[in-house]
Amino acid sequence: MHKNKLLTYSIICLLLISIIAPISTTHAASLDSVVNSLAANTLETSSTQTGNGFFQQIFDLVFNKILGPVFNIFGGSSSTSSPSKNNPVTVKPLPPTNSNTTLKNKIIVVDPGHGGSNPGAVANNTRESDNNLSVALKLRDKLVQAGAKVIMTRETDRTVAPEGSSLSKELGARVTLANSNQADAFVSIHSNSNSDPNIKGAMTFYSTGKSSALASAVENAMVVQTGAIDKGTSSANFHVLRNTSMPSTLVEMGFVSNKEEAAQLSSDSYRSKLAQGIFTGIVNYFNKN
Ligand SMILES: [Zn+2]
Repeated sequence: MHKNKLLTYSIICLLLISIIAPISTTHAASLDSVVNSLAANTLETSSTQTGNGFFQQIFDLVFNKILGPVFNIFGGSSSTSSPSKNNPVTVKPLPPTNSNTTLKNKIIVVDPGHGGSNPGAVANNTRESDNNLSVALKLRDKLVQAGAKVIMTRETDRTVAPEGSSLSKELGARVTLANSNQADAFVSIHSNSNSDPNIKGAMTFYSTGKSSALASAVENAMVVQTGAIDKGTSSANFHVLRNTSMPSTLVEMGFVSNKEEAAQLSSDSYRSKLAQGIFTGIVNYFNKN
């Protein structure tokens, strides 16, 4: 009888401590943090459905972690180490903060430069407008997968303003899409060209303000991903950068006038690397801004 009472009180005490301790250390945090805190201290269960929620976590904590070892101790087991051999404790690492939610509901305009009657730079059997569109479509897919709302200025080989419009109307149509949708970021995708065929590398442009940070984030991630020569970021007075009212950047992915980069820009695998690099840069920018 006495032993049973002691056992009962011990269980109640441990139960209260197990519930109060994690909550008191995270008093300033949200319920999510409390649940995460409990999850990190709880046995890994085969069912990790978030729908099980708070009470499932409490249940697992009490019955697997607290009661199991307690009964071992009171049963006079020679093993006093918790946990028991049948229920090894596995502490699950918490996911990195914001890893999946950084771009959620962010409105991002992706602008493949040129198109239609204006192919942009053409050299070494590759057209700028084709390279730009291919990378932009890959970038779109990655952004959508990350939860962003993506607006493409074009998704086919066409002009954005009606065919035959002036250049300023063509560029103005791209700017209008970004401004009227109150986009969080505008990313224009281009390929470069130079009269010197030896010049190669990736560079990224911005106009003012926060755009500088966006350009740096994109340039850095792009050269890491592709191994391209880092030609850095520069301020430029381009129409689409000057007139967009949100952080905006223009990426020159490489030189079609350079044989090696022209071949890379034409290849599907290199286009995927470019898209991944630009995507990572956008994520990195929004993680800090
Ligand atoms: Zn261009």
